[in-house]
Amino acid sequence: MSAVLGHDAVRQRFIEALGLGRLHHAWLLHGASGIGKRMLAHALAADYLCERNRDNVQAGVACGECHSCRMIAAGSHPDFLLLEREWNEKTKKLNRDVNIEQVRGMLGFLSLSGAESARRVALIGEAGRMNAQAANAMLKGLEEPSAGSLMLMVCEDALAMPATVRSRCLLQFLSPLNQDDMQSVLGGMQIPGDAIAFAAQLADGQPGRVAAMADPAVAAALLAWHDLLAEPSVFDIGRAQLWISKHVQKIPHDLIVETVFAAIRPVLLRNRGDMTGMDAVLDAVRQLAVWPQELVRRTLRPAPTLLAHMLALRLALREMPLA
Ligand SMILES: [Zn+2]
Repeated sequence: MSAVLGHDAVRQRFIEALGLGRLHHAWLLHGASGIGKRMLAHALAADYLCERNRDNVQAGVACGECHSCRMIAAGSHPDFLLLEREWNEKTKKLNRDVNIEQVRGMLGFLSLSGAESARRVALIGEAGRMNAQAANAMLKGLEEPSAGSLMLMVCEDALAMPATVRSRCLLQFLSPLNQDDMQSVLGGMQIPGDAIAFAAQLADGQPGRVAAMADPAVAAALLAWHDLLAEPSVFDIGRAQLWISKHVQKIPHDLIVETVFAAIRPVLLRNRGDMTGMDAVLDAVRQLAVWPQELVRRTLRPAPTLLAHMLALRLALREMPLA
């Protein structure tokens, strides 16, 4: 089982508790998006089920070679259940919530005796998506856990979970990755070498946010966008318009916006002692920040709306003394 970069300390804590026979039956892993929470949960499930760890005493990182580890890697372990939102054939979308039937099914699974050993694990990939009924049904499993069962829950904001659920879990916060781990993770994600430094800047410790940059065309387009905005108060409108019409459909909108923010950050820092014009800039920034959601919500056309926001931002920046 490969390492999960950036979360060694948490994994060590889990393995130590496992070795001491004092593993909490429900872990809630929480932290920002794109930092590898689910990847870690998957690794912990493998650690828990690995044949070498069955006697607890010599617990260590999953061996990656035993029958159990191979089944986990192949996604076919009979004692491992992944609970996620279900695909709805009618709406052609994922269901909005994790529902009560799913939770009941999971608790049923955890109450059975395991096929390979006495251990079973359920991983709830989007615990924050449990609706009130589902969370209520969870309580029974949290209060009276079946012997040998383990629940690993993942969410971004632990405080958004019902207090009744949260208080019965072991809360484990996961931090964004540090710079060294980021370099390794981004390299491992196949992000082109010339884009890694820029990707690290955009990702801000959350490598999952820049996953799309593993596509060289996306990475190159974002680098070009960043170059184009090197002087954001005087960028070339014609070139910006060209870039937008060529790329806006294919490049993830949040990365387009993040690139703009990366470009204007130095200007804001230069002006931090002087608030002249700051209101107008912040207003333009706010408009741009919600642009990706507005596109979907109001079914706007991406190219003209992005260009309009960029022109508003450019105009606002020009009013700043040190732009
Ligand atoms: Zn193993």
